[in-house]
Amino acid sequence: MTCADVQARLVDLLYGELDEEALLVDLLYGELDEDNQASPSAHLERCADCGAAWLTLQSVSSALDRWTAPAPRGLAERALATLAAREAAAARAHNPGLAVSHVLGFLLAGAAAAAVSLLLISGAPPEQPTPLTVGLAGAVWAALYGGASFLAQHGRYRRLALAALIAAGVSVLGAPVLSMPAVIEACRRWLEAAQGSVALNGLIVLAGALYAAAPVSLSSAFVARPRPGGIWADAVRVASLYGLLLAPSVYLQCYTMTLSQAAPWVAGVLLGSLLGSTGGITVALRLRPASA
Ligand SMILES: [Zn+2]
Repeated sequence: MTCADVQARLVDLLYGELDEEALLVDLLYGELDEDNQASPSAHLERCADCGAAWLTLQSVSSALDRWTAPAPRGLAERALATLAAREAAAARAHNPGLAVSHVLGFLLAGAAAAAVSLLLISGAPPEQPTPLTVGLAGAVWAALYGGASFLAQHGRYRRLALAALIAAGVSVLGAPVLSMPAVIEACRRWLEAAQGSVALNGLIVLAGALYAAAPVSLSSAFVARPRPGGIWADAVRVASLYGLLLAPSVYLQCYTMTLSQAAPWVAGVLLGSLLGSTGGITVALRLRPASA
């Protein structure tokens, strides 16, 4: 093996990539001279020139291993600032579209729910509501349903909003059967009392309370995730949202009545909403005490 052969292989030797098989093949085809057929390492021990070249290569290599490129001053800070700015720009570019489609989605869902609710309710009053009344109630309802379904998917009170939404849906579904004028009329006939009598008003309050309490107590008991110590606050949240969602239904059913006719029913609905959600959340706390 000549000096040129050895020095051509020094880098391979340094990185442990020297192919001994390839050396043997070279030897076999006479490409290495036979005087120096020993391995490159053996040659390095004998030859001063190649030994010196080998030592130089090793010292340069170990110096390179120890060297780290100095980072320019403030480079890391600048890189982080650039990255943060890019992420912020990407978020700004992404969010408006998302927010608009998101809001549109909830409004469409709200409008669909409002349309179904109007179909169920508009048959109930003794007089057909005017198109303007239906339109206004429908618009309010669409916004309420959209907002409630948004609350049911975002934020801290998701489960409470869901409980209110389910209860309102059940109430509206029951409206054609248990419509408010029909219930009031049934109460009147059952008591054979005149409009405005104390007994009849008490019974109407009770009927309104039961009508409102039944769905919300069940939905609160099975859907709400109560927090210990927060029963009243959570009950007020459910009852408020539920009452809002029922408002167009109550309005459509009683706008033909006088205030004194409608007031006991409205009072009963408010009372039932609050008592029903409180009862339901109390039961939920007993059923799932761990959910905090
Ligand atoms: Zn040599």
